[in-house]
Amino acid sequence: MGSVQIVTTILAAAITAVAVWLAVRAVSKMVAVIRLGQPDPTRSGDKISRTRTMLAETAGHTRMLRWSVVGAAHWFVMVGFVVLSLLVLEAYFEVVSPTGGLPLIGGWTLYGLVTEWIGILGVVGIGVLIAIRLANRPNRAGRRSRFTGSTMWQGYFVEAVVLAVLVMGFLIRGFKVATDHFEYPTWATPLSHAVGAALPGWESGVSVAALVKISISMVWVIVISLNVTMGVAWHRFLAFPNIFFKRRPGAAGSGLGALRPMMSDGKPLDFEEADPEKDQFGVAQVEQFTWKGLLDFSTCTECGRCQSQCPAWNTGKPLSPKLLVLSLRDHAYAKAPYLLAGGGKDLTGEEKATAAQLAHLDVLALAEAEKPLIGDAESGGVIDPDVLWSCTTCGACVEQCPVDIEHVDHIVDMRRYQVLIESSFPSEAGVMLRNLENKGNPWGAPQNTREDWTKGLDFEVPRVGEIEDFEYLFWVGCAGAFEDRAKKTTRAVATLLNEAGVSFAILGEGETCSGDPARRIGNEFVFQMLAQQNVETLNEAFEGREKAKRKIVATCPHCFNTLGNEYGQLGGEFEVVHHTQLLAHLVATGRLTPVQPVDGGVTYHDPCYLGRHNRVFTPPREVLGSAIQGELTEMPRNSERSFCCGAGGARMWMEERIGKRINVDRVEEAMSTGARTVAVGCPFCSTMLTDGVNGKGAGEQVEVIDVASVLLRSVKPEQVGGAEETTPVAG
Ligand code: SF4
Ligand code: SF4
Repeated sequence: MGSVQIVTTILAAAITAVAVWLAVRAVSKMVAVIRLGQPDPTRSGDKISRTRTMLAETAGHTRMLRWSVVGAAHWFVMVGFVVLSLLVLEAYFEVVSPTGGLPLIGGWTLYGLVTEWIGILGVVGIGVLIAIRLANRPNRAGRRSRFTGSTMWQGYFVEAVVLAVLVMGFLIRGFKVATDHFEYPTWATPLSHAVGAALPGWESGVSVAALVKISISMVWVIVISLNVTMGVAWHRFLAFPNIFFKRRPGAAGSGLGALRPMMSDGKPLDFEEADPEKDQFGVAQVEQFTWKGLLDFSTCTECGRCQSQCPAWNTGKPLSPKLLVLSLRDHAYAKAPYLLAGGGKDLTGEEKATAAQLAHLDVLALAEAEKPLIGDAESGGVIDPDVLWSCTTCGACVEQCPVDIEHVDHIVDMRRYQVLIESSFPSEAGVMLRNLENKGNPWGAPQNTREDWTKGLDFEVPRVGEIEDFEYLFWVGCAGAFEDRAKKTTRAVATLLNEAGVSFAILGEGETCSGDPARRIGNEFVFQMLAQQNVETLNEAFEGREKAKRKIVATCPHCFNTLGNEYGQLGGEFEVVHHTQLLAHLVATGRLTPVQPVDGGVTYHDPCYLGRHNRVFTPPREVLGSAIQGELTEMPRNSERSFCCGAGGARMWMEERIGKRINVDRVEEAMSTGARTVAVGCPFCSTMLTDGVNGKGAGEQVEVIDVASVLLRSVKPEQVGGAEETTPVAG
């Protein structure tokens, strides 16, 4: 070993020892913080699906490749990181000897070939990512930049390190070529040979370059170890467990669907026994999130994909799902020393730690512990109430997040505490909640008018119990029963089912609100009250039937989602379809025949709770395809990336005071297609988009109608103005 190699070996060993010590300390801290969260026993089952999903989403980049160029570039950088870690390991042999290499695989042509090309593509990939970050930097693109609010120096630092490590790899190889110590043929390692041709034959160059490469890598380890909230770097390790523990590992796409039930100490809360002094009602302190919540916050890469899709952020509201996650992460880690010292409030608000336990704590940690989780700037709150209440629960953030963070569950958990314990929520939504409790529907309409929509139809709509047997229970929903526009859809669907000879029955006055608006606003108590009542009624209606024959068709995606995905939490197992799915089937099997194509251009707005939350994208398009002239005109934001109408998450019953109205933004997009018909599959979307069209003074030119009404016009053109349009009874 020459004198240069003695120095390079000592320096490499020293910096590595420091880095490893700091990394072990950082990982222990992170594990301790995540363990502060509440138990969640639902995360460990079905390990095979979990492993499969984790491998598909990481190795296959299934979520990120939807963002084609960025996804491909990131894939090469990720593979480069894994494969080229071997080259960092190899550098430890090279600081000792310029001819050193990895035992066993070092010198193997295949190893040389693979690492060469992964290195080349890694340089291209990181170059693309750097260019994208620079082109989208917040000071240039402002709020439109997905990086607005991200910690930019961390992104630049990580990208610079990746680039430097890759470049150093080629320099090391170049020095080996120049000194004739390189085993791989030119055809397998062309860039290394090209670099070598330009370098002097300096033997120690290999060891010095290897030391620089190790130093850069270890500086990276040291920096991220000193910054445990540096998600842009830590996600390389945390993404694996975060995806493994996602809540629906076997389901296609994201972790949307049923909302998580309200949990206390890892068990779902039953309001018949729950006690706010003993049980946790929602989340009021950051440590009341589950450990998976805290893992979510730690894993955020700050990529801003969620932010770029969020309807609230895109219309000038203070909510960004990314900034919300970052605020919770920073707060959790800043408060952690206090919690780890034994601090925290019990459910009655009493401090758990003794004065002695808190005596030596950092004042900053103590100050952080005093911050309310929800509160405005004046009260030093971590999350502003305007942020919390701006969410429509549209799920665009969850859908886009490459590491499967579950924003909607966290938002609703915080809302639950605000509503149930603090009674603090936008006051205008109070009327809706009172109507739900007292009248069983958000509008406060009399229950005995639930069947008024059937008046004037030229066939009988039977109630459950009035006919011997029925195939489908037609769940009408509150909007479908009481809201004028939605009643047209209800009538159109009933007419089409009758036309196709489908045997169906309604609950009539036996139906009550599904509970969706109560659950999304955070009032789990009212949700459970309504849902239990409906589950009882439905179980009675389907008594004696196996699950496959407990078929329900719903026109409202919120009811469809709640009945199909959430009633199982309360003992109600049903086969629920959306009317567009059933209609698509009836058209495909020839039981409904469109005869007169609807013309004038048609576009389709995907309702969030039908599309993203339940992945029903194709059936409404099939129905429209069968009923319209020419092709369906898609809006730029469609299917998984559809833009919310603004009504979800109980926003339908709250004023929209900040920023541009979400429905107006969506209507502008719909109108930009030139279509004269905007087809929808949800009564709330229908209301919001109609209001938007009218607000733009375009009511004469553009019509917003349900997919079922479009089909009815094509199947029974003689009935236009008849079955669908006749709404003799006001809601
Ligand atoms: S659910 Fe929708 S509105 Fe709520 S934070 Fe996510 S993207 Fe924004
Ligand atoms: S998409 Fe996911 S990882 Fe990216 S910023 Fe949003 S929460 Fe973080």
